[in-house]
Amino acid sequence: MSNNTPQLTNGEIFTTMREMEHEQLVFCNDKETGLKAIVAIHNTTLGPALGGTRFWNYQNEDEAIIDVLRLSRGMTYKAAISGLNLGGGKAVIIGDSKALTNREPLFRRYGKFVNGLGGRYITAEDVGTSTGDMEYIGMETESVAGKPEQLGGGGDPSPVTAYGVYLGMRAAAKYANGTDSLSGKRVLVQGVGHVGQHLVKHLVQEGATVMIADISEERTSAVAKEFGVEVVSTASIFDTQMDIYAPCALGATINDETIGKLTCNIIAGAANNQLKEEEKHGRALIERGIVYAPDYLINAGGLINCYVELEGYNRERALQKTEIIYQRALEIFAVAASNNITTQAAANRVA
Ligand code: NAD
Repeated sequence: MSNNTPQLTNGEIFTTMREMEHEQLVFCNDKETGLKAIVAIHNTTLGPALGGTRFWNYQNEDEAIIDVLRLSRGMTYKAAISGLNLGGGKAVIIGDSKALTNREPLFRRYGKFVNGLGGRYITAEDVGTSTGDMEYIGMETESVAGKPEQLGGGGDPSPVTAYGVYLGMRAAAKYANGTDSLSGKRVLVQGVGHVGQHLVKHLVQEGATVMIADISEERTSAVAKEFGVEVVSTASIFDTQMDIYAPCALGATINDETIGKLTCNIIAGAANNQLKEEEKHGRALIERGIVYAPDYLINAGGLINCYVELEGYNRERALQKTEIIYQRALEIFAVAASNNITTQAAANRVA
């Protein structure tokens, strides 16, 4: 997997699919509701392809196709590394999610399309879609996860994701410091939204010294009030002395500008695609002696939550299954060290 945005090779879909090793790309069009959706099934070797539906106002169709191909391939790796009997898939709906007020007709129509795939693709929430939308899809198909808890779904996966990130951080500490204890460690959590706030709770419970930063003052004051943690301005994140950096907001925060400033020896967070350039910045972290816990492994709790929902949801089982992340992270650190490759490359190899 690479962080560089893939392009349609020679502008051709089949050539690109062959290169990226996709099985199937499905275009769904509905005149009545205006639905324009694309489902990408990357690989079903381990099981049905599971991945969320992203509702996004793409500039053009090529951008949507590239995104769905890239995201679905990422899901194959994520499911494989988490030991789940799932393949990789993803879907995009082209349009402005916020502008869609009457959501039921479009999501029910979309649910019918997903149902037509006969179980080869299972959808879930992603950017621009919600548990409510999954409820509409669920009226038309069984191939959906991420439904509200009152409907037997797993509800918001963020607490499970945060637990996995916490375990991945502990594994990184074990590898870097010889002990997985985070007690007394200065941890900076960037982004205290759904996942970040739950991560803060685990860290505080363990006796870490937590600092938080978020562009939303509402979020920082709420989390600071609840957990009594220190707030750092977003502008001074990389000038702050810390042992562990936990990016839980957006991707590409580990880049040419930030790496030289980092004082931590561990990076472990929930954000996707944290390394701006996977190989280059992964190598730069090795040179600085910083252990990087691969993002798509340690944030896999959300996917594990969906998987458990398909079996009949049980939060305890979801948390228990998420514990695989600790051991898997240790394995990856060992593979990276013995082959002199980055932890991200080691994760790809293990997956
Ligand atoms: P969220 O939108 O609830 O929270 C993100 C937080 O980051 C918000 O509070 C936002 O104000 C803040 N933020 C945005 N830009 C920022 C910046 N430049 N600096 C500091 N703070 C900033 O999202 P979430 O569900 O908590 O997810 C966090 C990250 O983890 C995302 O990258 C997401 O893709 C990834 N992720 C989430 C899950 C999940 O289960 N929710 C699973 C896997 C991966």
